[in-house]
Amino acid sequence: MEFIDLSKQYARIKDNVNASIQRVLDHGHYILGPEVEQLEEALANYTGSNHVISCANGTDALQLSLMAMGVKPGDVIITTPFTFFATAEVIPLVGADIAFSDINPQTFNLCPDTLRSEILKLKTQGRNIVGIIAVNLFGLPADFAKIKEICSEFNLFLIEDAAQSFGASISHHKSCTFGDIATTSFFPAKPLGCYGDGGAMFTNDANIAKKLRSLSAHGKGLNKYDNIAIGLNSRLDTLQAAVLLEKLKIFDEEIKLRQKVAENYAALLAETALKLPILPPSYNSIWAQYAIIAASTQQRDYIRSQLKYEGIPSAIYYEKPLHLQPIFRTLDYSNGAFPIAEDVSHRILCLPMHPYLPLEDQKAISDVIHTALQGSP
Ligand SMILES: *Cc1c(COP(=O)(O)O)cnc(C)c1O
Repeated sequence: MEFIDLSKQYARIKDNVNASIQRVLDHGHYILGPEVEQLEEALANYTGSNHVISCANGTDALQLSLMAMGVKPGDVIITTPFTFFATAEVIPLVGADIAFSDINPQTFNLCPDTLRSEILKLKTQGRNIVGIIAVNLFGLPADFAKIKEICSEFNLFLIEDAAQSFGASISHHKSCTFGDIATTSFFPAKPLGCYGDGGAMFTNDANIAKKLRSLSAHGKGLNKYDNIAIGLNSRLDTLQAAVLLEKLKIFDEEIKLRQKVAENYAALLAETALKLPILPPSYNSIWAQYAIIAASTQQRDYIRSQLKYEGIPSAIYYEKPLHLQPIFRTLDYSNGAFPIAEDVSHRILCLPMHPYLPLEDQKAISDVIHTALQGSP
């Protein structure tokens, strides 16, 4: 059993993917070929975002976004300590300072109330907060209604890190439309993944779009030998765009399959005392991960060892909240600074999750978990 089985998806779309890769090999426009523009248009249509700028990966997408918002040394960006490292990593990369704010224990996303008090606290310390990076963890959108209110109240920009949530939605609004800029990743294991690295940025603001386009191409001006800013070399390969165009065609169907897998888990594990994922009303997760919360670290680790014994993969996202990472020691956050993120990291376990996970496999996973819970320390 695979944690995320990409081979089943490939088997399904093999002929189409092979043909579209062949088309790129035949036309030979490996850099910024026609498929890149076609994909950007398709992503704009899919999400409802006015402008889409593809780039090399989700981390560059975040860094370019901060650059486009004009972030400078001394500026403070607030984000969640419970996310993949890249979300916070890009902040010092543009010379700014990181501040963390704790999560909601049900959604694992930024808690708006905590965020507000964190902002007030930082302000009394004279810190120059300029923006928020909100992450849609495991595919569930953050509480954007409240986060946007806070951003207007304190005049902050909002970046939506949608690396795990392409395809998710709140009511009929798709993820990648909730911030001044949204960013996503096409890393193979993400909900919409390519066969290598890839990323994209989304905005409704034509001026920001222009900046992102320039910054992703060495800060180009009128053409690539006219440089008006210090940028990056961050492009999506034509081959990856060709792969993504094929995957986008089956994506809505895969969303339904993912939802079914999540429903199956919910039914199979309903009788246990495990805390299962919740969906706030009108929220749709893309189920990048299916995360359960055990009663204790010992219980979580015992379930994990029993799954492993039966050949079933599982993963702990994230073992260590970012404020406790060695590189962020200089930020002076101690153990206990973000109690909810810390508690969740001690008890969380992610189960195999992908659109082609058979019900029989889910039953096997559930059986192991039920048995483990009876024998767990
Ligand atoms: C994967 C991920 C990224 C980075 O994307 P890459 O394409 O791997 O650079 C950023 N933020 C979050 C939340 C992610 O999960």
